[in-house]
Amino acid sequence: MKGWKLKEEKSLALEELAETTSVDSTVDFSKVKITKALITTADVLRYIGDLDTHEDVVLGSYGIGIISESGSNLFGLEKGKHVYVEPYKPCNECYNCKNGEEKKCSNLMIAGEDYDGFLADFAQVESSKLFLLPDSVSDYEALFIGHISLALSIIDKLGIQKGDYVAVIGANNLGIILSQLLIYYQAVPILISNYQDNIEIAKASGIYYTLGEGDNWQKEVSSLTGGRMAKHVVYFSESNIHANKAFSVASFNADVAFTGDSYKNNPISFSQAIKKQLDIHCINASSGNTAASINLIANKAIDLSHLKLDNAKYDAVPETLENMANKLAEDGLVVETIVDLI
Ligand SMILES: [Zn+2]
Repeated sequence: MKGWKLKEEKSLALEELAETTSVDSTVDFSKVKITKALITTADVLRYIGDLDTHEDVVLGSYGIGIISESGSNLFGLEKGKHVYVEPYKPCNECYNCKNGEEKKCSNLMIAGEDYDGFLADFAQVESSKLFLLPDSVSDYEALFIGHISLALSIIDKLGIQKGDYVAVIGANNLGIILSQLLIYYQAVPILISNYQDNIEIAKASGIYYTLGEGDNWQKEVSSLTGGRMAKHVVYFSESNIHANKAFSVASFNADVAFTGDSYKNNPISFSQAIKKQLDIHCINASSGNTAASINLIANKAIDLSHLKLDNAKYDAVPETLENMANKLAEDGLVVETIVDLI
């Protein structure tokens, strides 16, 4: 087992990985040959030292592969099966974890940040984190299961109903996937971005209300909602838009969610939020939506074919991350990159 470890800021090394020996006999491990991994904004922020990443951790936020050694008593998850590996696990140390409420873990561990991610030839993972991929889900689509799971958590946590207006700030892949799901559930997304290319991708993906750099967002949201403003606002931390814009498009007493695929920090001022008595939510990835996400892909509920992506070879991971970091410094955005391992 070898993987691309982050040794220090902007320095990667392909290193041999230790095999896990389980100290707890109730935890069952499987070994997965990784076939494809996805490098996201979170990986780039870890690479440049902007996130609190543990040293000596293999990067790579999402991955899929084939089971090469199966744990015991796994129904249907035998050697050779095509799987998605859920990229987070509970800390098992906080109050909630110790009281059997791992789903409410206050220190969720994230692959690529707290433990080894998927830029590795093999991953040794807890068997409970493996999800069988049906033939109707392509490798490419499976890499977005994590994005869809987060989008489902957002819709669920905000209690979004049919006909609700939802302002989505940030038209990266996550923003486009959330907007498509909102349409699927018959809500009305208004997608906001400063990046015209991303707006075009959103339109091609079937999102009809989009606002770009030249628009007066507050005025446009007011006119689209008949003066009501947005009942729910979702702000993605990677949007490169000032966080206070989320408050300016919200209605009185609206729900505003801060979320994203990284823990990127953004400055914020609360005066408008207090004036409008907004309900602020912070939403992180969590387990529980993976099976539903696979099902949505299998049912063709989301069109992932237009998403903006790059491709890279496994050998070229260091150059790829360096290029992605440069692009982030130049224009504030990361183009998520698929790495082929076979
Ligand atoms: Zn915990």
